[in-house]
Amino acid sequence: MKKQKLTELSELGEFKVIENLTKGFSTVNKSTIKGVGDDAAVIDSADKQTVITTDLLVEGIHFDLTYSSLKYIGYKSVVVNISDVYAMNAIPKQITVSIAVSNRFSFEALNEIYAGINQACKAYGVDLVGGDTSSSKIGFFISVTAIGEVDKGKAVYRNTAQTNDLICVSGDLGAAYMGLQLLEREKLVFESVPGVQPDFSNYKYILQRQMRPDARKDVIELLAEKNLMPTSMIDISDGLSSEILHVCNSSQKGCEIHENKLPIHEQTKQMSDELGIEPTIAAMNGGEDYELLFTIPLSDYEKIKEFKQISIIGNITDKKGKMDLITENGVRVPITAQGWNTLENKK
Ligand code: ADP
Ligand code: MG
Repeated sequence: MKKQKLTELSELGEFKVIENLTKGFSTVNKSTIKGVGDDAAVIDSADKQTVITTDLLVEGIHFDLTYSSLKYIGYKSVVVNISDVYAMNAIPKQITVSIAVSNRFSFEALNEIYAGINQACKAYGVDLVGGDTSSSKIGFFISVTAIGEVDKGKAVYRNTAQTNDLICVSGDLGAAYMGLQLLEREKLVFESVPGVQPDFSNYKYILQRQMRPDARKDVIELLAEKNLMPTSMIDISDGLSSEILHVCNSSQKGCEIHENKLPIHEQTKQMSDELGIEPTIAAMNGGEDYELLFTIPLSDYEKIKEFKQISIIGNITDKKGKMDLITENGVRVPITAQGWNTLENKK
């Protein structure tokens, strides 16, 4: 491979860096009145309600540059953010991106990250309208703020699940966690036996779920199209256990989740087998699935059962504080919050 000459950020200076990073972006939303280039962006909310959410991703905590590509990091940092907007039943329209970089980053490296950000902007129809750029002594930080819109009265909260509602989840669970386990294992092998190239060909799906996750725009669109209004909703970033506890506790309800209804991908099961981890543990306590967990009234059962991308995994009960997993053998196990906590899991 030909070695490309890399441009130090100091060679360009902050303004040129920002100008270059943002020049490949165009805006598509009519609510974007003013984007990058002034002191602040201007957004027209018309008669909608505005939803705002922000996430900070830190090198070594949320991503590891030894095995994740810069482009994926850019893409993922947008996705994790707009997933929160969808979880409000809103449509993301704008983002701002703030970064802090040490001098070990070249302009080309930043440009890769922005290429990933741009891909996500295009995939989800959001406009980059601003940000901030700073240097950092060590490590790389990226913070994304997403702004979305929702019709008045259509925002869906966590604390409004009702007794007897069906609990639904999109896609499948635990794959991103198993993808991370695979990457961590291969990193250890790589560090102890230099030169060994890992073979990931059987595990493309779980790796993609970890490195380049997608947010469930399609599910929000489907629900709207079918006139299905969830009673409560949350996105699954910390694992199903943790999220269902949030919904039940804030709604002052209980729930029953059926282990045999948990959607788990074949590759997740295979990897679980290889590493001696129960797939159910990965599904319940793994993190970063970015699927949607929502509740709907029992009367919508006929409508929801048609959708193959949605699984009905249980129901809400009026037994406040009693959240149970019913195992395949019919045993009731209390669900505990062993959510995927970055503060506990990483050094
Ligand atoms: P100020 O000094 O007023 O904070 P900046 O020079 O930081 O202005 O930013 C100029 C413009 O570029 C603003 O529109 C800002 O939102 C945008 N911007 C700055 N850094 C970034 C970035 N990393 N990504 C996207 N837009 C950025
Ligand atoms: Mg600034």
